[in-house]
Amino acid sequence: MSEILKKEMFTIPKGMIYLDGNSLGPMPVDVPGRMAQMLSDEWGQMLIKGWNGAGWMDQPARIGDQIGRVIGTPDGSVVLGDTLSIKVYQALASALMMRPDRRVVLSDTGNFPTDLYMAEGLLGMLGQGYTLRTVAPDQVAQSITPDVAAVMLTHVDYRSGRVHDMNAVTQAAHQAGAVMIWDLAHSAGALALDLHGSQAEFAVGCTYKYLNGGPGAPAFIYVRPDLADTVKPALSGWLGHRAPFDFDPRYQPGQGIERMRVGTPPVLQMTTLECAMQAFDGVDMQQLRAVSVALQEQFIAGIEARAPMLTLASPRQSDQRGSQVSFAFDHGYAAMQACIHHGVIGDFRAPNIMRFGFTPLYIDADDVEQAIERIANIMADRLWDQPQFHARQKVT
Ligand SMILES: *Cc1c(COP(=O)(O)O)cnc(C)c1O
Repeated sequence: MSEILKKEMFTIPKGMIYLDGNSLGPMPVDVPGRMAQMLSDEWGQMLIKGWNGAGWMDQPARIGDQIGRVIGTPDGSVVLGDTLSIKVYQALASALMMRPDRRVVLSDTGNFPTDLYMAEGLLGMLGQGYTLRTVAPDQVAQSITPDVAAVMLTHVDYRSGRVHDMNAVTQAAHQAGAVMIWDLAHSAGALALDLHGSQAEFAVGCTYKYLNGGPGAPAFIYVRPDLADTVKPALSGWLGHRAPFDFDPRYQPGQGIERMRVGTPPVLQMTTLECAMQAFDGVDMQQLRAVSVALQEQFIAGIEARAPMLTLASPRQSDQRGSQVSFAFDHGYAAMQACIHHGVIGDFRAPNIMRFGFTPLYIDADDVEQAIERIANIMADRLWDQPQFHARQKVT
């Protein structure tokens, strides 16, 4: 456990138990210094020379390799840029061009809304009979009919934490001739993944959750290496061009994964992320996953014993659960506000889900014990039932 726990690398306010790293990871302690140095030495002193001299232009691929080590992909197969919503759109558009004679995108009803919205927008624009079909999560594998061009799923359900079997679903997609796209928003940095081994064609994910890149940190996209030189990037921006500084009026896709880049990278945010990724140096993801499961089991047992009014809304079997535990409660919003007030930070997902994330880099068994204690008191004494906890805020 001690090899995984790196609490001293993160900034967590005193007294706070942060069980929301699945939504926004905490700030690594090295980030402010690195950012100050970047601002003064690089932007401040180098100005435009920073693109070459400080390696800004290579950041998207360099950080892609750091992330690749965490999700199980070879160097040169992941690149950073844009938001996850945009990367979902890009992966899906590229996938559809690989199966021009098929018209259906298959997803599940548990998918995160933006993934479905982006698909709807793309398919609506394409017209020509393209449709989005959603089925219950456990029905996906048997619903991949011969008209399905792409199966687009989020690996870990953002609400319940349920995990899809990556290898089995990818295999089913391939048997039916469909392209597989995985969204790893709630998996990257939390689970031991062998994405390359799964043979999936595409994956996307965000970096501000378990990867601690900071609010608004850019997303990543993976393309299976054997396809990277033939896939059509769909968002054909100049930085995905083979030679951006030739200023060729005709678009020609770049080499390999570079073609999935679009425009100017957010260098400040990339710098934060690159610094944050150091926390994963030398981390054995199997070991991290084992600690995450142990913390979750401890939490479930403690809450069920001491706060029986909360109903487990995540799969009970740990191998079917990501790195979060959700409990259903009718007054979940108010109860979560009370938890936050008492220093246990989780979040609320409509209609009634209280969500708690487990992040072994900075959460240990003592934290979990204290969280159980505080939540049990809040529930037993109905401390949540106060007007200030019922008023809804914009971000829940
Ligand atoms: C967090 C999350 C997003 C967020 O997308 P952004 O474009 O970064 O806002 C998208 N999809 C899933 C599955 C997520 O969990």
